[in-house]
Amino acid sequence: MNKFIPITKPDINSDDISAVVSVLESGMLVQGKKVLSLEEKFANFLNVDYSSAVSNGTATLHLALLAAGIKLGDEVIVPAFSYIATANVVELVGATPIFVDIDISTFNINVNLIEKAITSKTKAIIPVHEFGLPADMDSILEIAKQHNLVVIEDAACALGAKYKNRFAGTMGDFGSFSLHPRKAITSGEGGILLAKKQEHTNFIKSMRNHGIEMNEGVMEFIYAGYNYRMTDFQAALVSSQFERLETKIQTRQEIAKKYLSEIKNDKIKLPIQPLNYLHSWQTFHIILDDSINRTKMITELSEKGIGANYGAQCMPYMKFYLDKYKLDCEKNFPSAMKSYKQGLAIPMYENLDKDEINYIIDTLNKI
Ligand SMILES: *Cc1c(COP(=O)(O)O)cnc(C)c1O
Repeated sequence: MNKFIPITKPDINSDDISAVVSVLESGMLVQGKKVLSLEEKFANFLNVDYSSAVSNGTATLHLALLAAGIKLGDEVIVPAFSYIATANVVELVGATPIFVDIDISTFNINVNLIEKAITSKTKAIIPVHEFGLPADMDSILEIAKQHNLVVIEDAACALGAKYKNRFAGTMGDFGSFSLHPRKAITSGEGGILLAKKQEHTNFIKSMRNHGIEMNEGVMEFIYAGYNYRMTDFQAALVSSQFERLETKIQTRQEIAKKYLSEIKNDKIKLPIQPLNYLHSWQTFHIILDDSINRTKMITELSEKGIGANYGAQCMPYMKFYLDKYKLDCEKNFPSAMKSYKQGLAIPMYENLDKDEINYIIDTLNKI
């Protein structure tokens, strides 16, 4: 390969660029009509009543926790393996993240370990649909019902993914999506938050805009809110890409299928797609045998022209959490630790061509 294959590449075409330019030329840059129409697009596609566009996928999770009334003294269950934002937002509202180990075959929360983690302080659970594969939502919703927990789906990576014909993000009380360039469609920075209840949606839309409420044309401020707004040119960019979402997921499925059938190496454990799940393949994440030094492998692959990196973190093992909670991660979260230490995300994006895919497969088969 004489050119470098990155781990991901946002797919921005000339239509997307024109959509942004026309907003820039209109002079109306901040949250306005384009944001409103993006919210309608999401609600229509996912077949839900309410959707709110905000500045990023961390802000969506933060607002969901605030809307759910999660506060100091409360406990929130999160998988031990995710992008750090999933735990950080729990800290932001003063609550305590309670980490639960994952199932290493799906990289999602191990539903058999959830009930042991529930106490009288547990108020919510944030299942993550890691890398675009939905978590086992039937089990999670059942546990949540029994223990009266709010369910906030972190579907940052899972726009368009499905669990038994239901879209990821639409099953819990809240569903959160990220529009960061690492995800399937992007606004640069951005996020979409679904809430089942209208009162929550009203709160979210007010909180993202300084706590504003408009009453017959008169501006009032009813909360101490944030500025978590999305701009109209960001909304135009992602709206334009939205038209290609389903094709993008299809292409990613084809690439995943080829990786799954042609990567054949005893030192590599491949991800799975369980029956009745539609994986959106935001990331293709493999586990390397313990005999391979993953960090060195990242450098070696890079020298061969292939971008690869760790996929997500064992969150309780990150400095802030380790200092604060001092959890024995090897003992309590063996699967999250293994995924963090031996996991490797390899290139996955729509514009990977056949030669590049074959080259990646050949290279991985030789390690
Ligand atoms: C990307 C991501 C986030 C954060 O989204 P941002 O838009 O970058 O703030 C949160 N959770 C998960 C699982 C993610 O992958």
